This record gives sequence, C-alpha cells and structure tokens, in this order.
Amino acid sequence: MPPDARTRTDVVIVGAGISGIAAAHYLHAQGIRYVVLEADDDIGGTWLRNTWHGARVDSEVVRYAFSFKLEIPAKELWDRREVLGYLKRTVREADIERNILLRTRVRKASFDSASNTWTVHTDQGVYEANFLVNCNGFGANDPHVPAFEGTQAFRGEIIHSIHLDDGRRFDDQHVVVIGSGATAISSAPSLSDVSKSLVILQRSPSYIYEVDNKLGRFARLCRALHNRGVPLAGAALRLQSTIAGDIYFLLIRSFPKLGRAFFRRHWRDVATDAYYAKFLTPRYAPYTQRIPKAVGLKERIVANKIALRNGVIARFKERSIVLQSGEELPCDVCILATGFKLGFFSFPLFCDGKQLDVRDVNWYKTFMMGSVPNYFHPSGCFHCSWTQRVEQLGRMMVDVMAHMRRRGYGRVWVDRKTVPFYAVFSPNFLMREKHLPRPYGLIELPTLDHFLSFHLWTSRELRFA
Ligand SMILES: Cc1cc2nc3c(=O)[nH]c(=O)nc-3n(C[C@H](O)[C@H](O)[C@H](O)COP(=O)(O)OP(=O)(O)OC[C@H]3O[C@@H](n4cnc5c(N)ncnc54)[C@H](O)[C@@H]3O)c2cc1C
Repeated sequence: MPPDARTRTDVVIVGAGISGIAAAHYLHAQGIRYVVLEADDDIGGTWLRNTWHGARVDSEVVRYAFSFKLEIPAKELWDRREVLGYLKRTVREADIERNILLRTRVRKASFDSASNTWTVHTDQGVYEANFLVNCNGFGANDPHVPAFEGTQAFRGEIIHSIHLDDGRRFDDQHVVVIGSGATAISSAPSLSDVSKSLVILQRSPSYIYEVDNKLGRFARLCRALHNRGVPLAGAALRLQSTIAGDIYFLLIRSFPKLGRAFFRRHWRDVATDAYYAKFLTPRYAPYTQRIPKAVGLKERIVANKIALRNGVIARFKERSIVLQSGEELPCDVCILATGFKLGFFSFPLFCDGKQLDVRDVNWYKTFMMGSVPNYFHPSGCFHCSWTQRVEQLGRMMVDVMAHMRRRGYGRVWVDRKTVPFYAVFSPNFLMREKHLPRPYGLIELPTLDHFLSFHLWTSRELRFA
C-alpha cells in the first residue's frame, strides 16, 4: 500500500505478539473489524526475537496457551520454537492471519476528539479507527548493557542474550553468563552443552526451582482426555494449575520461613549446606522476586559442567574477567543476561494535535491509561501467565465496546490522576526505569484479580461520552 493511502476500520491493534493475537481473537469473535499492524516480518514478538540457547517459557503450557486454543503437549514447558509454532497455528486456524499486516511499523498515532477517530501513521500507509489497542510489548528487545572496565583489552566476545543465536557453538571456549534471572538460568544448561566450560556469574543468588519438564499424573490424565475431545478436561487442568500456583505464591509470600525451608529442601539432593548458603540463598524473601525455573541445571552442576560464582566484575582482561574479590574467571565469550530497558511506548501518541505526556501515567487495571481516549493498552503481569491476563483484558475490551454501542457512546477514557507506583515484584529492569505507567485498580494477588474482578470494570473509573 502506498504510504499516503488511508484505510478505515473499527480497531487498530499494534503488535502481533501474544497480546495482539489475544485482542484480535476477541474482536474477531464479536465481528468487529480490526487490523493488526506488525513491524517485524513475522508474528510472535518475544518468541521471534529471543533466539538464545534455551529460550523458553516458565509458565506451564496449559496456562500459557490461549483458553480458546488449549493445547496440552507431553511436557510442562514449551521452548520458543514451540510457542512460535503454536502462535502461527492459532492465527491461521482462528482466521486472524489475513488481518495481520507484517513489516508495518507504527510511527505515531493521533486522536481527533471531534470525530472520535485515531489516525495511525505507519511506513505502509495511514489507518483510521475508533479504537487503538496498543500491544507493542514492553521493550524487551532493547538490551540493558552495563559498562565494565577493561573491555577494550578483552580479546573475546561480549554479547547480550537478545543478540545470541542458538545455532552457535562454543566448543573450544570458556563461556561466562552474567546474571541470575530467568534468562541466565534457562540458557545456562543449553549453553553448557555447546561450550568448553560455563560459569554463571551472579552478583547475588536467586531462588531457583528445578523442574523435570514432564507432566504429573493428573496432567497426563487430563491430557489424554483432552486429546480424546472430552470437554472441560483441559480447562480442569488449567484451573488446577492456576489455583496451585496461587496457593504456592500466597503461602510462600505469607510465610517466608516456610518458603526458605522449602527451597533448602528442594536443593538438598545436590547442594551441601555451605554451597547452598553461598550460591543459592538470596538476600530477599522468597517470591518477592520472580523465581526462575531451571531444567537440567542440577545435573550439570553435579557433573561440573556448570559452575556458580558470586561476585562483582572489577574489570575485563585479555582472556578473563577479574572480580572485585580478586578471583579471575577464564572467559572467551561473555554472555550478558542482564535484562533490558523497559519501554511501554514504541511510538508517540497525540490528542487534538498535542503530544500526550505518558510519564507516570495512571494505568487502570493495566488496561486503560489516564486521559488517553479510546485507547487500550493490555499487559500481563509478573505473577501468573501473561496469556491468561491479556485474555481477560481482551474480554473486558469487547465488553466496553458493546456497552458503548448499546448506549450510543463514541468515547471512553479514564481520568488522569496521580497514583503510587505499584509492583508485585521489583526486578532490576523495572526499578531502573523512571516514569513508567502506574498500574492501579488491581488486588495484591493478580491471578485472583483476573478471575474475580477483571470482568467488572466500573463506570466509576471509566468515563463515557
Ligand atoms: C525469554 C522470555 C520468557 C518469558 N516467559 C514467560 C512466561 O513463562 N510466562 C509469561 O507469562 N510471560 C513470559 N514472558 C513475558 C512475555 O514477554 C509475554 O509472555 C508475551 O510474550 C508478551 O507478549 P506481547 O504481545 O505483549 O509483547 P511482544 O511479544 O513484545 O510483542 C510486541 C509486538 O509488537 C510489535 N511492535 C512493537 N512496536 C511496534 C510498532 N511501533 N509498530 C508495529 N509493531 C510494533 C513487535 O514487533 C512485537 O511483535 C517471557 C518473556 C521472555 C523475553
């Protein structure tokens, strides 16, 4: 389409990742016209871009898959290729694919309050719609690269995980992975299989939960029934997994001593007290940060294929990393699993010709933002599966649209107001950023919130005209 061509539709969705696909599904089901504008040359977002060794989900598949296309494979966690394959099957089978325009980057979007219309400018033309649904992700492809001393002298390679291709091998090379979060813990086992040696260098330890990636008895039963077409078998497993996750979260948050004892017991088969105290005991209480899941970490620690080290990098030398403690780690390849710069807007928003200031903007239920009309910005959260959350928000969005149609409204918004910063967890990548949108209207236990209160948007908060 020529860049100045204009296309009119009801809803423009930005981004064809999990959130954009969920939004498209719920609009599609209601017969609402929409188009999905995707900058990349394929769908998938996170699962297209994260190509590092071992990239996978931490949430059980039964919770990460959409409820409208529930798949239960023979394992608990999908790797990134499996998620990508699943998303492609989903858009094809749900007939969403033909409404997705690839290689179409949104550059800006402007709302006109006289006509209640968003005008969305892209590389491939201009789109007009009554509603804008921004599913542009949270900036996870913009790496955070800390500055280290001595990198000019270093003869090896320093590479951020987002730039790593899992086809690479490091057979003759000593690899050091910097970080202690989900990326470091997921990638280390796969990396250790293609490296001469592998060290995970952490400033301080995290709680790590090892799983065997196999289905339990109840899950196997539900899978067998689900695959034979027995109604509700998949939903029952999903519910059981969600409730179990919540109980576990609540118990560990409420009784940190119990949580600490649980993790010590979890590692008793491979870690001595001294090893556990040094490398696996965080300074913080369990579940006040995300808990990375490991697959195959224990066996590689026991086999000396993976070593854990604590320390702060003092400097790089030609072929090593020197820690402040004086310890020196041989290093040919340094992989930075150091996270990313959080960003919720990949394009500017305007209203009646004036750019909207979205710094510290209030974000009602991570759904609508203060003073941005006819605009939905669905997001997942840190505890519970992203998919479950954005599905609830997709349903809520079509509820709001139906309400507007019934009452003859043309505009919906929430007022701009100051709310305190809220985060269930406080990972470094969140705490580093200033002026993030500020969620509110949630309850402390997000998963419960999805099921009990997400459908119930309140007209006290939402304004209509
Ligand atoms: C390695 C990894 C593991 C994870 N594991 C889990 C897990 O186990 N459980 C969980 O719940 N969550 C997990 N997450 C969080 C994960 O990001 C979400 O689950 C989900 O994939 C986010 O989907 P999204 O659609 O919101 O964003 P994204 O996947 O980032 O998609 C955003 C899309 O918008 C497009 N886009 C951006 N800007 C523009 C623009 N201006 N114009 C057009 N298109 C644009 C991008 O190209 C992209 O395709 C994980 C994240 C990572 C990185």
